[in-house]
Amino acid sequence: MKKNKAYKFRLMPNKTQADLIERTIGCARFVYNCMLADKIKHYKDTRLLLRNTPAQYKDEFEFLKEVDSLALANSQMNLETAYSNFFRRVKQGKKEVEFPKFKSKKKCSWSYTTNNQKDNIRIENNKIKLPKIGFVKLIQHRRILDDHIIKSVTISKTRTNRYYISILIEYETQIVKKDIEKVIGLDFSMKELYVDSNAYSANFPRFFRLAQEKLTKEQRVFSHRKPGSKRYEKQRIRVAKIHEHITNQRKDFLHKESHKLANSFDMICIEDLNMRAMGQCLNFGKSVSDNGWGMFTTFLKYKLEDQGKQLFVIDKWFSSSKMCNVCGCVNKGLTLADREWTCGCGNIHNRDHNAAINIRNFGIRTVGMTGIAQECL
Ligand SMILES: [Zn+2]
Repeated sequence: MKKNKAYKFRLMPNKTQADLIERTIGCARFVYNCMLADKIKHYKDTRLLLRNTPAQYKDEFEFLKEVDSLALANSQMNLETAYSNFFRRVKQGKKEVEFPKFKSKKKCSWSYTTNNQKDNIRIENNKIKLPKIGFVKLIQHRRILDDHIIKSVTISKTRTNRYYISILIEYETQIVKKDIEKVIGLDFSMKELYVDSNAYSANFPRFFRLAQEKLTKEQRVFSHRKPGSKRYEKQRIRVAKIHEHITNQRKDFLHKESHKLANSFDMICIEDLNMRAMGQCLNFGKSVSDNGWGMFTTFLKYKLEDQGKQLFVIDKWFSSSKMCNVCGCVNKGLTLADREWTCGCGNIHNRDHNAAINIRNFGIRTVGMTGIAQECL
C-alpha cells in the first residue's frame, strides 16, 4: 500500500538563494493573477472558460523564464481548481457566485510548490537540491528513509523572514490490522484540548499560556503604532515572531500528545466537532478557537493508522454530555455552565469525563456490531 507523509524543515538559504526563492514566490503569484485576470475578462466577454498556461506569458514577461517553471505550473493547477469550482457553481445556476480571489502579497501565504522530476530534488549532506536554486542548507531533525520517494516540495517564507520547506514523500508499507483491546474516548475541551474517559485531561503547558498572554500584550502595543513608521515595522516583526513561536509550541504539544495516545491505545473515539457544535448551537470560530483540535485529530489519525489502529469518529450528534454513562438517562436540563451534575440514579458526574466515557462506549458498541469502524475524517 502506498502512503504519503510530509516533513517540514527549516531552510537556510544564502542571500542569492533567498532572493531567488522570493522571486519565484513572486512570479508564482504574478502568473496566478495574470491568468485569473484573463480568465475573468474572457468570461465577461464570452461567458466561456478560458484555458491559458503560464508559457503564454513568458514572452511578454521575460522574468518568468528565470524561475522554476514547475512552480508556475503548480500555480496554474491551483488556479484551475479554484476556477473550475467557480464555473461549476455558475453552471448549476447559483446566484452571485464570486470569482476566485486574486493573490495578495499581504494576505496570502508566501510559498511555492515544485515537483520532483528525475531526482532534480534530492537531499545530500544536510542540503536539499532545488530546481534553479541549487543546494540549500537544511536543518533536518528527522531522517527521510532511503526508500521514501520525494514527490513534491513547498518552500515558504514566514512573516519573520524565515524559510521552511515541506517535503511530501511517498512510501510503500504493509500495515497489519491490530486487534482492538485498548480503547479510549476523548471529549473535546477548549481549554484543555481534551478530557479522556479515564478522567485525564491534556492541559496545554504553562509556557504556552504565558506566550499567549505575551502575544495579547504585544498586539495591544502594535495597535497603537503608526502604520509605516519604523516602530510599527519593529513591533510587527515582534508580534509575528511570538505568533510563530506559539504555532510551533502548539504543534509540538499536539505531536507529543497524539504520539503518546496512538502508542497506548488500539482505538481512539472522538466526536466530530461540527456535529457537537450543531447540537449545542455553539459558534466555534473555525480556525482560531478549536485550539488545534483539527490538527490534533489529523495527527492522531495517521499515527494510529501507521500502526494498524484506528480513529473512530462519531459523525452524528448524540447527547454525550447529557447522558449518564451508568444508567443511560438523559439530563435534558443540563446547560453548558454545569460542570458537574447528579443523575437520578445517584451518580455524580464531571461533565467532560462523563462525555468521554459515553464517546468511548459508543465507539466500542459500533465497532463491536460491525467489526469495522466507520470513519468520517
Ligand atoms: Zn444515571
